[in-house]
Amino acid sequence: MYLKPRAVSNELEILRSLNIRMNLPAKDRKHYLNLEKGYQGEAIFDQLTAKLQCDVYILNDLCFEFNRSVFQIDTLIISQNTIFPIEIKNYEGDYHYDPEVFRRVSSNYEITNPLDQLKRSMTLLRSLLKFHGIHQPIEGYVTFVNPEFTLYQAPLNTSMILPTQLNRFNKTLNEMTSKLSNQHKKLADLLISLHQTESPYTRLPTYNYEHLKKGISCISCYSYEVAVIAEKKIVCDKCSCVEDVNSAVLRNVEELKTLFPDKKLTTTRVHEWCKVIKSKKTIRRILIQNLRSVGESHLRYFV
Ligand SMILES: [Zn+2]
Repeated sequence: MYLKPRAVSNELEILRSLNIRMNLPAKDRKHYLNLEKGYQGEAIFDQLTAKLQCDVYILNDLCFEFNRSVFQIDTLIISQNTIFPIEIKNYEGDYHYDPEVFRRVSSNYEITNPLDQLKRSMTLLRSLLKFHGIHQPIEGYVTFVNPEFTLYQAPLNTSMILPTQLNRFNKTLNEMTSKLSNQHKKLADLLISLHQTESPYTRLPTYNYEHLKKGISCISCYSYEVAVIAEKKIVCDKCSCVEDVNSAVLRNVEELKTLFPDKKLTTTRVHEWCKVIKSKKTIRRILIQNLRSVGESHLRYFV
């Protein structure tokens, strides 16, 4: 049923590690926290769709470009008769509704009305589908998943699903009559093939290897105050979490690859990156056992 599961975006993954390895400029840190919050909201919504037992396809995190316009859809549900594009918002706090913006109560903070965003992506999705000869009805929703969100003076608008209505919304979806056919599978495959993996919205600060903090951080609390025991276990001084050296090194190698896809992974580089592992031999052994090595001796690197 999940034809396209949700994954942490490359952008969020990079910002997560930069956040602990450097001092992010204020605007990038804010952007990072927004992405993190958005992702948490999506996870809340995914817990709901995971309960659906009706015959539907679920596609998450779609990004399309059509007529030179880029639009994203957090979750798209394909049922027998209808396509449901769904926006997921994890706003928290008390807001006043306004057709243009949502205004935070007792502050000047504003967010653009997400119904406009929904309207835009529905128009673009409709044109995109029409272009491919698909005329199935579209019904879009903005869902507010945070239980701490209140929207004063909200109009009666059936496209907005407020936190208190989420379970009912899910129930209604679950109870609709739906029987998928090969046509629906073709539609889902088409949408997945049109998905753009490189989002043009990606915004990353400049960073370089030399300036990033080296070392292995705790898998649970991200602290760098970890101790290595007998070159086998990593123990966090702060939260006492324990991790195998092997998996900690491989986790940090993945991070290095995500941050610097063009840098060659040599034993020396990984040894420096992981820092707390004193023995270079240990690093070499882990790399040889888990990655493919190219070249010999001092020219060897891993892929
Ligand atoms: Zn920890």
